[in-house]
Amino acid sequence: MIVIENVYVVPVTGAEIPSGYIAIDGDRIVAVGAGAYEGEGERVDGRGCLATPGFVNTHHHLYQWASQGVTPDGTLFEWLVASYRLWGRMDAEVVHGAATAGLGWLAKSGCTTASDHHYIFPKGRGDLFDAEIQAAREVGLRFHPGRGSMDRGRSQGGLPPDEVVESMDDILSATEAAVRKYHDPSFGSMLRIAVAPCSPFSVSGQLMLESADLARSMGVRLHTHGAETLDEDEHCKEQFGMLPVQYLESLGWLGPDVWLAHCVHLTDDDIRRFAATGTGTAHCPSSNGRLGAGIARVSELMRAGAPVGLGVDGAASSEMTPLAGEIRMAMLLQRARYGPDALTARQALEMATMGGARCLGRADEIGSLEAGKLADVALWRVDGFYAAIDDPVVAFAYGQTPPLARLIVGGKTVVEDGELRTVSDQVAAEAGAVAHRRLLGN
Ligand SMILES: [Zn+2]
Repeated sequence: MIVIENVYVVPVTGAEIPSGYIAIDGDRIVAVGAGAYEGEGERVDGRGCLATPGFVNTHHHLYQWASQGVTPDGTLFEWLVASYRLWGRMDAEVVHGAATAGLGWLAKSGCTTASDHHYIFPKGRGDLFDAEIQAAREVGLRFHPGRGSMDRGRSQGGLPPDEVVESMDDILSATEAAVRKYHDPSFGSMLRIAVAPCSPFSVSGQLMLESADLARSMGVRLHTHGAETLDEDEHCKEQFGMLPVQYLESLGWLGPDVWLAHCVHLTDDDIRRFAATGTGTAHCPSSNGRLGAGIARVSELMRAGAPVGLGVDGAASSEMTPLAGEIRMAMLLQRARYGPDALTARQALEMATMGGARCLGRADEIGSLEAGKLADVALWRVDGFYAAIDDPVVAFAYGQTPPLARLIVGGKTVVEDGELRTVSDQVAAEAGAVAHRRLLGN
């Protein structure tokens, strides 16, 4: 039993508690309240701290830690074309090292549940999917890797070179095998698999249809990229005679079991369809800015009732992006587009927690601090310099993210005083640097 006490609690789903406690037994929260907790337990003094639910990262490509900074400018399509050949050289060691660093970095910015979207599987280079799962076990985060795929190379009108795509049969059998081997649907699961073909411009319509059938027959979720850039709009109009969201809907890819990365360029009708079908959006504001994609209409999606979570996206298009910082980025960019009442700090915090939990289908387990939910908790130091601001949520969200005093995943401490306690900072950083050198061949 662990009791965090004297802490400012932001449960996200209920009223804030200026001085209260969170009691944790095993991997669950057993009580949250004001004042002192009467029961036994190891005490953690939360004085000067803000307690939030652990953050949920809804979109990433962990392998990209190894190719950060390699293509620092350009549009999405220019950046992808420059990156595909390099990514085609990765092996299981690169993926393990990149994932260790990427997941460690996420943990250090308050993330307790991470999804990943891995869609390149060069032949004869080891078990890449298993490599990232091992890394997540070592770092200690709840993990939702998507078995990604691409089957539409350049000769078929797609964007990637033919040598980095797989055949549809290989993809479907490997995806089914990954779900059977790893997916744990139980309450409190540390590992769930999604089916995740890459994007309209690298995947055939047939693979999208078959992937949706496979995921639904196995009871797992669906993830892909959608409506990220105007180039993608043009590609879809040219190749399929419709815009990306219409195309996805025609293939059965809107629904409560689907979450889509980016969704920057949505029509009013798309927003209504997302809300009506419960389709989730993984909002990645830094990546969208970095690639000049645009500012997504996420405050409109939230107002319409559609699930919206936050994501850092792959590190090669969003270098060193901390998940906690995306709360600020989302808030500021929505205000830059729509005005100062577009997104409050508390709404952006909700996006990072309950919004992400809804996208991953785990709203009953994570995303808020409530008795019965999993003990995924972040403690932020809002004393020191931050004590100049009375509202601790404003202190947390408006400027540089305050220090992370502790990160707890399922009752276990993963970060303490800003440093990883599962693998060390030094091990995670070195793993990422070695993966980078190995991928670049020097
Ligand atoms: Zn992405």
